[in-house]
Amino acid sequence: MAEYDVVIIGAGIAGLVTGNYLVDSGKRVLIVEQIKYPGGCACTFGKQGYKFDGAVHWISQAGEGGIVKSILKDFGLDGEIRFDRLPAPPQVWLHDKKIKSSFGREGVVKALSDAFPYESGNLDVFWKETEATLKQLWRLVKLQPSKMAPAGKFLFNLSFPLKFGKIAKYHKKKASEVIAQYFRDESLRHVLEAMGIFQDISFVHYAWFNSVALEGDAYYPAGGIRAVPDALANRFISKGGEIRYRCKAEKIIFKDKKIAGIIANGEEISVGTVVSASDATKTFLTLAGEEKLPLEFVSGLKEWKVSEPFFYVYLGLNCSLREKGFDGSPIWYIPEFIDKKFPMLGGKALGIGMPSLLDGSLAPEGKSVLILGMAASCAFMNSCPVRAEAGTNYRENEHYKAVKERVGEYMIDIAEEAIPGLRENIDLKIFATPHTFERYTGNLHGASSGWSMAADQQHKLSVKTPVPGLYLAGHWTMNPGGVPAAFVSGKLAAEEVLTG
Ligand SMILES: Cc1cc2nc3c(=O)[nH]c(=O)nc-3n(C[C@H](O)[C@H](O)[C@H](O)COP(=O)(O)OP(=O)(O)OC[C@H]3O[C@@H](n4cnc5c(N)ncnc54)[C@H](O)[C@@H]3O)c2cc1C
Repeated sequence: MAEYDVVIIGAGIAGLVTGNYLVDSGKRVLIVEQIKYPGGCACTFGKQGYKFDGAVHWISQAGEGGIVKSILKDFGLDGEIRFDRLPAPPQVWLHDKKIKSSFGREGVVKALSDAFPYESGNLDVFWKETEATLKQLWRLVKLQPSKMAPAGKFLFNLSFPLKFGKIAKYHKKKASEVIAQYFRDESLRHVLEAMGIFQDISFVHYAWFNSVALEGDAYYPAGGIRAVPDALANRFISKGGEIRYRCKAEKIIFKDKKIAGIIANGEEISVGTVVSASDATKTFLTLAGEEKLPLEFVSGLKEWKVSEPFFYVYLGLNCSLREKGFDGSPIWYIPEFIDKKFPMLGGKALGIGMPSLLDGSLAPEGKSVLILGMAASCAFMNSCPVRAEAGTNYRENEHYKAVKERVGEYMIDIAEEAIPGLRENIDLKIFATPHTFERYTGNLHGASSGWSMAADQQHKLSVKTPVPGLYLAGHWTMNPGGVPAAFVSGKLAAEEVLTG
């Protein structure tokens, strides 16, 4: 008899949530994780006394009534992790003005109207429309149409344009097109587009991103982002689950067209049910093998765009950012222009996070953590000659090393425009490219949130796959991805395993 009922690939948020629900239902569960700690994108690493969140800046839906909070309650963990709301929404800084708003639509409209007074009427209407779209989106998420019976789904589809008119109208429309309908001022359009982070983002996803400002839906866990996966991993183990770290799944094995197990670190592990909470393309094309899948499914996987990855710069500073007047709210700094020498940078703005102002334990006394992030260009990543996939020694490639250094230093130059004197306070700097993200998370090209959020690319996969016995969890099953999506997908995957 196999030792486990279910093997889960990946100890990111989705894998850990799936695992916790399954052990609670009495299943014997093993999670294999390729790196040495849990969390995937939701990780925190330490160096020279500083603690850096690897990717995630804040978690939405972790307040009372939120989806993340309610799943943590299912596990009795809601009291264990303290979530503090961000002090204010992300500030938007231009070279000549600083736009600082308070939470809520009125706060956002007022701050933008102070900066662009001649557009205040349009700003009011635009943000009302954004908020109305967001409300419909929440209603839709709560309905969970994927779980409806066929008759219910038929009626749902029929009444969709009436009940969810904004979603139907904007789902395939770029936020930049909607913004252009409301505003003439180029500079304001640029600011509003930068607030959507990703190129060509659908207006519906744009509304979702701005729930942080509109609803104050952004929380930071005490101890750093990794407090969340650590709590989930510890609970999973305390309930009898097993996690093997530094254990990479290499192949899913089939016997008589049924899943018979996986090979991880060269060892065969027998099991009839596998949940992959790792990159979807690699799960199907490499681990399972495309010959096991319908042609259409395979061509989708090969054609769909993934979400933009990021370049990050992690800085340890030997100064107190609080003494310099910062409060811990993130900043979007929009430079006047972005040097064309850097075609790999795809974003309009530099994200500046100051997590040690949210939790003082992340930096030594009198010092601070500053994290810079800028979206990379997907087109560039698709044609990049350097590959971060297993087995390639890309880190030793001289060209790669030079580009990493140049982009990292350029991002610090941009940050220096926003925070003069920054360079002279740098005590430690670490650069991460999209390849670094791919190496640590397995996500193709370092994709940040599963599939692309572009208006013409609204894809997601079902947790139930065309391969019997193989299930999928994680940000590839939701759009938009993100930590809340990973939580929800983990719950749905566990339900599917238990009922399917
Ligand atoms: C730079 C960046 C910034 C972000 N900022 C935010 C933010 O502020 N807020 C937010 O909500 N979301 C943010 N996101 C998105 C969010 O982090 C992800 O969507 C979410 O964490 C995905 O969780 P997951 O469990 O689905 O997958 P992942 O976190 O990708 O976890 C997958 C896990 O599987 C493991 N794995 C992969 N392949 C194998 C294998 N073959 N064998 C064993 N293990 C394997 C990986 O090591 C990893 O631990 C950000 C993402 C990035 C990259």
